[in-house]
Amino acid sequence: MQVMKILKQKRFKWLAIGVGFSFLGPLGEWVLLSSFARSGEESLFLTYLYTEISALLAFGFFGFMLGTYADQVENLAMTDRLTGLYNRHFIVNRLNELFSLQQRYHEHFSLIMLDLDHFKQVNDNHGHLVGDRTIKAVATTISAQLRDTDSLCRFGGEEFLVLCPHTDLEEAFHLAERIRLQVIELGEDELGFSGSQTISAGVYEVVRNQHHSASEVMTLVDKALYSAKEAGRNQVVRG
Ligand code: GH3
Ligand code: MG
Ligand code: MG
Repeated sequence: MQVMKILKQKRFKWLAIGVGFSFLGPLGEWVLLSSFARSGEESLFLTYLYTEISALLAFGFFGFMLGTYADQVENLAMTDRLTGLYNRHFIVNRLNELFSLQQRYHEHFSLIMLDLDHFKQVNDNHGHLVGDRTIKAVATTISAQLRDTDSLCRFGGEEFLVLCPHTDLEEAFHLAERIRLQVIELGEDELGFSGSQTISAGVYEVVRNQHHSASEVMTLVDKALYSAKEAGRNQVVRG
């Protein structure tokens, strides 16, 4: 699994393409020389070997470098600079994938939308740098509670979205509750200010055979979050 993940990186894909291309020039040279040149077999072979090795190194190196840049660009496009989490763009793609699985294999999954309570006050009272630190601390706390198969993104300023495959409403609710309780436990060292930070969350399950669009589901989980805010914050509401 890990090997497959590494091989999927663009640097290795482009290295392989570079190595593939490296055979073309020397091969053409071999064909031409062996058709028209009068030199002996041995010097032909040595010429071929020399060109092949230099082409292999040059094409392989450039392929690897090109792939490394492509990996970096892809990473930048998918991740949030402050928290290192996936950004909204990535999660929309992942959500569409989960919808395809749900419709093809009748699988279910859940969404959790979390938002820091009264976060504006943190910025107003302690400054933006402390606010940034608080956002990072909450991001780390959420990450620590998730399974490998869950996807977490920073959806907006102080809003996070979790996608949980094979998870029903009750499981998602308990996960969100666990996160909520862990966030309250954060202290000054993590948050950057003395006092506590609470979060509100909405959870929603996309059940088997349900035919909602991605945007409808996002509206529904957002509605559940809004209900949690309306009900006084620091709580999780099922959608
Ligand atoms: P509520 O409980 O209703 O969610 O209240 P709130 O104050 O948290 O909500 P609101 O959406 O009004 O405020 C969100 C604030 O988050 C406003 C914005 O200044 C702040 N914010 C957004 N992104 C960042 C960021 O990257 N860093 C910092 N420090 N603050 C941010
Ligand atoms: Mg908020
Ligand atoms: Mg918000």
